[in-house]
Amino acid sequence: MRYLVVSDIHANQAALEAVLADAGAFDGVWCLGDIVGYGPEPNECVSRLRDYDLVCLAGNHDWAALGRLDLSSFNGDARAAVTWTDRTLRPEVRDFLEGLPSYLEQGGFTLAHGSPRQPVWEYILDPLIAAINFAYFSTQYCLVGHTHTPVVHALDAEASVCRVRAPRYGEPLALDDSRLIINPGSVGQPRDSDPRAAYGVLDTDAHTWEHRRVAYPVDETQNRMRQHGLPHRLVARLQYGW
Ligand code: ZN
Repeated sequence: MRYLVVSDIHANQAALEAVLADAGAFDGVWCLGDIVGYGPEPNECVSRLRDYDLVCLAGNHDWAALGRLDLSSFNGDARAAVTWTDRTLRPEVRDFLEGLPSYLEQGGFTLAHGSPRQPVWEYILDPLIAAINFAYFSTQYCLVGHTHTPVVHALDAEASVCRVRAPRYGEPLALDDSRLIINPGSVGQPRDSDPRAAYGVLDTDAHTWEHRRVAYPVDETQNRMRQHGLPHRLVARLQYGW
């Protein structure tokens, strides 16, 4: 089976459509959370994903829009976007988000939005945090999002450390005996200084993982954000990928 793996779409429909068009044929979509928050099309992005055979997690921004999180840990711009999203969500979209888990096991993979240790909140930003997290899942591979940065952390079990592998786009990585934590990066708000949408393709027959990147019309999303009065800083950052 060939799965499209996406995370942190953040209500950016133009980015999501570019990914869907670029991915080629796939059997299903695995989404690692944060479908909504920041961007201008939360309802449209949820409905679009539901066109496919979908396995989906909730992220911290999905929970925030549902009023399930204390917003004091969000900065002012994120809070303004959460409030707008909360007002904008249609009832059936809200119901769908309410029913999502934040952690699950699927076909030999553990899926978590942030980390297996703390699925909603923890950011796996460095090899030390990655190494600690290998004790918190029992499958060979784990897929996470949340940092908006594509990366693979490979456990070196003998040395009890993690090695970081930067993404090599379009070059499939063989899934061998190594235990891995893989992050596909963010579809709708990349933060690695590359504004293109990031995603991954998992081929469970060929046993490969592939990081992908695709450009999308950033200005379309920015214009819609301005129309809705979303914060200027959130509009500007899309163009720079930070
Ligand atoms: Zn996010």
